Amino acid sequence: MKRFCLSAMLLAITLLAACAPAASQAHTATLFAMDTVMDLSAYGEQGEIALDNAQDLIRELEGLLSTTREGSEIYALNHGETVALSPSTRELLDRALALCGDTGGALDITIYPVVRAWGFTTEEYQVPDSQTLTALLDKVDYTQITLEGDSLLLPDGMELDLGAVAKGYTGDRLMELFRQSEIASAYVNLGGNVQVLGASPDGDPWRIGIRDPDGEGYAAVVEVTDRAVVTSGAYERYFEQGGVRYGHIIDPDTGYPARSGLISVTIVSQSGTLADGLSTALFVMGKDRAVQFWRTRDDFDFILIEEDGTVTISQGIENSFSFPGEQGSYALEVVRR
Ligand code: AMP
Ligand code: MG
Repeated sequence: MKRFCLSAMLLAITLLAACAPAASQAHTATLFAMDTVMDLSAYGEQGEIALDNAQDLIRELEGLLSTTREGSEIYALNHGETVALSPSTRELLDRALALCGDTGGALDITIYPVVRAWGFTTEEYQVPDSQTLTALLDKVDYTQITLEGDSLLLPDGMELDLGAVAKGYTGDRLMELFRQSEIASAYVNLGGNVQVLGASPDGDPWRIGIRDPDGEGYAAVVEVTDRAVVTSGAYERYFEQGGVRYGHIIDPDTGYPARSGLISVTIVSQSGTLADGLSTALFVMGKDRAVQFWRTRDDFDFILIEEDGTVTISQGIENSFSFPGEQGSYALEVVRR
């Protein structure tokens, strides 16, 4: 009898396991693409096939948008070729150029010659002299690009770099793919660009950790549903020379790595492309300009971390923001409209 009870119980548990989690069955994949490690999770019956398609999509976009890969559309444009742009490249260029304009050029997708001069494309780092930078800055000006139909006119010597927006755009495309695959819940981390579809499988918002720019753990947590959470940080890619740290985000006005007092900028938005573009742009702007810019818009929130440990957040995420465990050395300010 005892044995029967146990078997019946086990059967019941197995059945529960077989039925209930079908809708929330986790499927995961990890891949290296776009120069970074990517983690993907999709929940539900269609998860596995959706993740296969997701990886194909990532590879396809990488093949179009990479600056370094021969055969990509951006590589061809940067080498003076005429290209009939694919709808994806066109769409991203269109949105990126709009963001360059919105941010007054703090984001400038023609920054590539300067990024290369610093060695960020090859990891052979160097500090260019100021004449070199002044000469290269002549070639940095997104307003000189024209995008018409499926062709883009890039003046001689100018080169594109979609590194500030490509992963964000990829996140948007993945969410679209998951939605079409009738996935209700998904999470992607594209090398620090997090984007989620719906709520987490248990129905609560997703809890996203914001990396501590000074250490290993998390500086903050934000709870979100259907959002992109994208961070740009000085700690992501940099080199040191003569005791000075040079980061990979360049101020297009000076040609030097942005030194605005911010060490980490996180943007929370429905749009991955917007979040990615603005995380880079607000890093360049610095806190005061970033806050002013935010007041002119209603399509994003931010978490700014300054060198002195001040954390500033915008009011839209006040109730979904927390410090993990101890607040530690951070002081919190909330900016309101
Ligand atoms: P993110 O990690 O999204 O902030 O993007 C940084 C990458 O974008 C860099 O590695 C460069 O390739 C490129 N980049 C750097 N500064 C800028 C800028 N001011 N505008 C546009 N792209 C930039
Ligand atoms: Mg970015």
